[in-house]
Amino acid sequence: MRLVFLGAPGVGKGTQAERVAAQFHHPKISTGDILREAVRNKTALGLEAKACMDQGQLVPDAVVIGIIREKLAEPACARGFLLDGFPRTVAQAEALTGLLESTGQRLDRVFNFAVPRAEVVRRLSGRRSCPKCQAVYHVDSAPPQRTGLCDRCGADLMQRSDDLKETVEARLAVYEEQTAPLIAYYRQRGILSELDGSGPIEEVHRRLLGLLPKHGVA
Ligand code: AMP
Repeated sequence: MRLVFLGAPGVGKGTQAERVAAQFHHPKISTGDILREAVRNKTALGLEAKACMDQGQLVPDAVVIGIIREKLAEPACARGFLLDGFPRTVAQAEALTGLLESTGQRLDRVFNFAVPRAEVVRRLSGRRSCPKCQAVYHVDSAPPQRTGLCDRCGADLMQRSDDLKETVEARLAVYEEQTAPLIAYYRQRGILSELDGSGPIEEVHRRLLGLLPKHGVA
């Protein structure tokens, strides 16, 4: 399966992508995770991306397309993959189509997660994540067993700097302007599935499984 998880920040697409990836043994590729790791390691990529990320703006298309080109060429992606947070612009979507076509592949499905704006803001402001293993929690709806500590690896949980209120507003505006047009883009191509992303994680997961292509192929 070659899947894209689309939606505004905070709709839960990363959490759901993580689960589906584990269930189907497909790699989950999150450009946000890759960029955050580069920022932490202070690589050239990280230094270039940091200013955009801190302001809630998108990193230039050429940078993220380069990341995806490298990732998709890895043998682990040969049987399928899940993209979380990519593409985020029409130019990225076009580049993805081109990359896949060059190896005779295509996307099977694009899932668009819809969640009311007030709920998105609530989810983002309560989100805490592990800087070591990327596990994600929510202070109210998915708290860790020991407050402030990752269940998986015990590291101190952190709030992402771009989950602070002012940056959240900027990210939602960027989403509306640059990413939301991808909904119509993929609908026109007949591969969009719309998904209600509100409610508990388990419930959304069940809804998503019901929409997945049967037997792993579209
Ligand atoms: P995310 O974790 O997906 O919310 O991404 C965090 C930040 O990384 C975004 O606000 C952008 O600054 C940057 N980013 C992640 N994915 C992309 C992408 N596909 N295109 C441009 N910037 C991205």
